Amino acid sequence: MGDNSVEAWLSDHSWHKLADSVSEPLLTIAADGRLAHVNSAIESCLGYPAASFILLFNQLLGANQDRRLLLLQETIDRLQRQISEGQASSHTTEALELQHRDGFHVSCELLCVAQPAGGLLCLLQKTQAAGHAHESQALAAKVLDSSLSGIYITDAAGKIVQVNRAFSRLTEFSAAEVLGQSPQCLDVERYAAAYFKSISDSLERKGSWEGEIQHRRKGGQVFPAWVSITVLRDELGAIINTISHFSDITEKKNSDHKIHRLAYIDPLTDLPNRSLFADRFAQALGRAKRQNAMVALLFLDLDGFKTINDSLGYACGDRLLREAAQRLRDCVRTDDTVARLGGDEFAVILGDLSDRAAAMTAAAHIAEKVRHVLAEAFLLEDKRLLTGASIGIAFYPSDGAEPSTLLQHADTAMYHAKAQGKNNYQFYSAGLNERAREQLALESELRVAIDSGQLELHYQPILSASEGAPVAVEALVRWQHPSRGMIMPNDFITMAEDSGLIRPLGTWVLREACAQLRIWQEQGVAVERVAINVSAKQFKEGHLLQTLHEVMAEHQLEPASIEIELTESALMADHHFVQQSLEEIKRLGVSISIDDFGAGYSSLSHLKHLPIDTIKVDRSFISGLPAREDKQIVQAIIALGKSLNLRTVAEGIETPLQLEFVQELGCDEVQGFMLSQPMPAKDILLW
Ligand SMILES: [Mg+2]
Repeated sequence: MGDNSVEAWLSDHSWHKLADSVSEPLLTIAADGRLAHVNSAIESCLGYPAASFILLFNQLLGANQDRRLLLLQETIDRLQRQISEGQASSHTTEALELQHRDGFHVSCELLCVAQPAGGLLCLLQKTQAAGHAHESQALAAKVLDSSLSGIYITDAAGKIVQVNRAFSRLTEFSAAEVLGQSPQCLDVERYAAAYFKSISDSLERKGSWEGEIQHRRKGGQVFPAWVSITVLRDELGAIINTISHFSDITEKKNSDHKIHRLAYIDPLTDLPNRSLFADRFAQALGRAKRQNAMVALLFLDLDGFKTINDSLGYACGDRLLREAAQRLRDCVRTDDTVARLGGDEFAVILGDLSDRAAAMTAAAHIAEKVRHVLAEAFLLEDKRLLTGASIGIAFYPSDGAEPSTLLQHADTAMYHAKAQGKNNYQFYSAGLNERAREQLALESELRVAIDSGQLELHYQPILSASEGAPVAVEALVRWQHPSRGMIMPNDFITMAEDSGLIRPLGTWVLREACAQLRIWQEQGVAVERVAINVSAKQFKEGHLLQTLHEVMAEHQLEPASIEIELTESALMADHHFVQQSLEEIKRLGVSISIDDFGAGYSSLSHLKHLPIDTIKVDRSFISGLPAREDKQIVQAIIALGKSLNLRTVAEGIETPLQLEFVQELGCDEVQGFMLSQPMPAKDILLW
C-alpha cells in the first residue's frame, strides 16, 4: 500500500514539477530501498544525469558498480533501516562527504523524512563551505581534464581520489576502476624496492620528484612515462594529497634513441664511432684512476684495405668493414668497447686490468685473437679476400695519462707493426717514438739521396733453369747512406711510397738501369734483359708509360731488353686502368713480369686477360721447399704459368734441393743467393 502511495506521487505530474523546482537533489526512496525518483538537481551536485543516477544507485543494491555512489546508497539504506526499527527519528539528518562523478569531494547534509508507507524522502544539501569548494573543484576538474598529461591524485591514505581524462586515455583504466585504489595498479613489478624508496625519500625531503617510471596499461602493455609527483601538506605538515602528472614518452625515447645512434654509432658497422669511443675511453681511464687499475688501448688498421677498396669498389670495401667489425666484436668481452674510428681504423678498449702483467696478457691475448680472425679469408660474394690487422697497443697509465697521448702512442705502435711486415701487434715503447723521429729524418735524407748520388743499383743474375746460363739481371736499388751505411730497399721503399718520393726514386731507378744496359751493350756484355722493379704506387700514379718512353728514347734501347716487375697489388687497382696501362706498356714492346706471385690475391681469371710475359714465384714458397704444402703451391703456379704460356721464374733459390725441385717442375728461370748475389754493375762484367 505504501508503494502504491509512492507510485501515486510519482505518477502525479504536479509532484514532478514540484520536485524539479527544488534546487537541491531530492530523492524518493521506495520501501524496498530502491531509488524511485530523483530530481534534475542531482546532476549539478554529483555530476550524474537523473536517469543514469537512478540506474547506478539501484545497481548498487546488487553489485558495487560505482564506488563513488556507494557511501550515499549505504547511508540511505542504513537510515531507512534505523528509522523503521525506531532507532532513529523519522526526521534524520546526517553529514556526508560524497564524491562527484569527476572524483572530487562534495560535503553534503542528507535530510531524510520517513514516509508513512515506509519509503523515504531525502534532500541532499551541500554544506556552505562545500558549495564554494564545489565551484573551485569543478573548475579544477575542467583544468585537469584539459591537460594532456595523465593526472591522478591520491589522498593521505595513498588511495586515488581523482583522475583526469588523459589518465584514462593513457592507462586504459576508467576513473571508476581506479578511484579508491592504490596507484600500484600502474606499476611494473621489475622495479627494486630501493627505487621506490628513493622516490619517497625525495618526496619527503623536497616535496616533489621527477623521473622516468615504466607504467602498465590495463591491458598489460608497458610504456615509459615521465612522471612528476608533488605532495600537498596541511599546516601541520601531514600529507593531504599527492598529485602525479605523467606523460607517455615512448616516441620521445624512440627519437632520442635515433638521435643517439646518429651521434654515436657508426652506421656502417653499428660500432661506437669516434665520439662514443672518446666518451668510453675517458670513462675507462677515470675508473682506472679511481681503482688504481690499468687500461689497454688497441689501435688497429686493416692491412691492404685501401687496395681492396680501390680495386673492388666501395661496396665491397664496406662489406668487408662490416664483416671485420663483427669479427672484432666477437673477440672481446661484452664490457669491452670496440669502436670504428674512421676508414679502416678500429680501436679496442680493455678496462679494469689489475696490474701490468694482467694488462700485457689480456692485450696480447686479444691482439692475437684479432690478428687471427682478421687474417682468415673474407668470402664476399664470389670473392675470397685476404687482409689482416696491424695492431698497436698502449697502456694507461704507463704509456700516458691523457686519452690523446695514449691514442697517439697506440697509433705509433700500429705503424711499427705495419713496418714489421703487417699482420702483427706491437706494444708501444718510448723507443718507438725515437724510431718514428728517425723515420722522419730518413725521409728528408732520402730526398737528398736521390739527387746527390747516394743511390746505386745492384744487379742479380737470373739464370736459365735448364742450362744455368745467365739470361737476365734484376736491378735492385741500394742506398749508400753517408753515416748509416748501406740501406736495403725494404727499409725505405714503403717510406718513399708514403711520402710521395716514390716517383723521383722510381724514375731514377728506371733511368739508371737503362743507362747501364746501354753501357753494357756498348761494352759488348751479353745482358739480354734487365728486369726493373716498379712499385704499385708508382704504377698507379700513371706516369710509367711516359717515363719508359723517354728513357728508352734517350738511351736508344730495344724495348724487348726491358722488363718491368709489378707486384700483384699493382694489379689490384681499377680493372680498366690496369688493363689499359699494361696494354700500352706492352705496345711499347716492354715485357711485363708479375713479382712475388702467389702472395697476393689476384684471381686467375683476372690474370688470363692481362698482357703478362712472366710470373715470378714468391720467395716465401721457394724457401718453404721441400715442405709438402709449398711444393704443391709451387707446382700449381708453374703449371698455371705454362698453361697461360708465361715464362716462370723461381726467386730466392738458396739450396740445391730447391733448385732441383723447380728444375724438375719445368720452371724456366731461377734466381737466388745460392746462384748469385746482387752485385755492382762493374762486377757483372767479370761474372
Ligand atoms: Mg723483383
